Amino acid sequence: MHELSIAASLVELVEEQASKVLRLPDAARISVVGIRLGALSGVVKESLLFCFDSVTRGTRMQDAVLEIEEISVTIFCTTCDTEQTLPSIQSLRCPVCGTVSLGITRGKELELSFIELSEDTTNEHAPTPYQHENCPA
Ligand SMILES: [Zn+2]
Repeated sequence: MHELSIAASLVELVEEQASKVLRLPDAARISVVGIRLGALSGVVKESLLFCFDSVTRGTRMQDAVLEIEEISVTIFCTTCDTEQTLPSIQSLRCPVCGTVSLGITRGKELELSFIELSEDTTNEHAPTPYQHENCPA
């Protein structure tokens, strides 16, 4: 399943960012993962959302929301000498003048755009004052 391996790589990438770049403690949780998904990326959004839920189980991204920004296909039309956004991915034809273009400038994206941390993560699993028997100190 294509989306499953993509979701797994995404989780790996976020984990790497979180621990190596942001240097978050293991207890820090991530609440939102934002990605950009181009219409030509070949990824089915619904499958990716489904797979994300299953691969994040047991990670710091468990229960995180995957926010997908869908990117339309944009071509550079040499006749119009400008970028044009295509209404669909069925044909790579300029919607204004009809010239076929293979100069795709946007629409193949599959990239991480942002991550958001849960704010109450540090206190969430802290013992309450009445659980002294579990406290090693
Ligand atoms: Zn054109």
